[in-house]
Amino acid sequence: MREGRDAVLRAECFLCGREHGGGAVCEACSADLPWWDSSHACPRCALPVASAGECGACLRVPPPIERCHALFDYAFPVPQLVQGLKYGQALELAPWLGLRLCDRLPVEASWDAVIPVPLHPARLRERGFNQAVELARPLARTRAAPLAGDELLRVRATPAQAGLSARVRRGNLRGAFQAAGRLPWRHVLVVDDVMTTGATLMALADALKAAGVARVDAVVVARTPAP
Ligand SMILES: [Zn+2]
Ligand SMILES: [Zn+2]
Repeated sequence: MREGRDAVLRAECFLCGREHGGGAVCEACSADLPWWDSSHACPRCALPVASAGECGACLRVPPPIERCHALFDYAFPVPQLVQGLKYGQALELAPWLGLRLCDRLPVEASWDAVIPVPLHPARLRERGFNQAVELARPLARTRAAPLAGDELLRVRATPAQAGLSARVRRGNLRGAFQAAGRLPWRHVLVVDDVMTTGATLMALADALKAAGVARVDAVVVARTPAP
């Protein structure tokens, strides 16, 4: 079945360049990827834990995200995949990754909306597309959940986050997202490419909850290790 849905997309593997049956990444490269292990991760922040259950930080201060799923650890060659998608050299990675994100989610779960993390309009104009939307599209289609459009959320310009500590990032991002009004959903899934400190996802989850959403889950392509 996976063969079938990938077959038309690409015959050359994005990672090794070999011709293969279909999909953006060949079976051999796919098998070698650092797949994220949900059995050794905190269900709320997706960081590794020694014993099953929530990590100490999430128990102390529960984040606004109920369940967080990841596809990979942010380790070689995942940064290559993420960059290829983000800067548009390999947009065919989006459906491949999107369908794998879909496989990662519990089959019994369902959401009233799938929400890609919005880009600031200036960034969107500069880049021409939002990688989170490209990832969320196949996921929403496969799980028969409506894909939420940007018009529902306003994004405030925020300073670049790279290199800042988790605490500074959270401060910078407070109020970064704001819903345009009361939202009609109870249970939503937010989608992003990389989760580093989680500040972006948490700011979005706070805004969604402030607009009436009861439960926010998240799924990301890659989770970076704890800072
Ligand atoms: Zn390959
Ligand atoms: Zn945690």
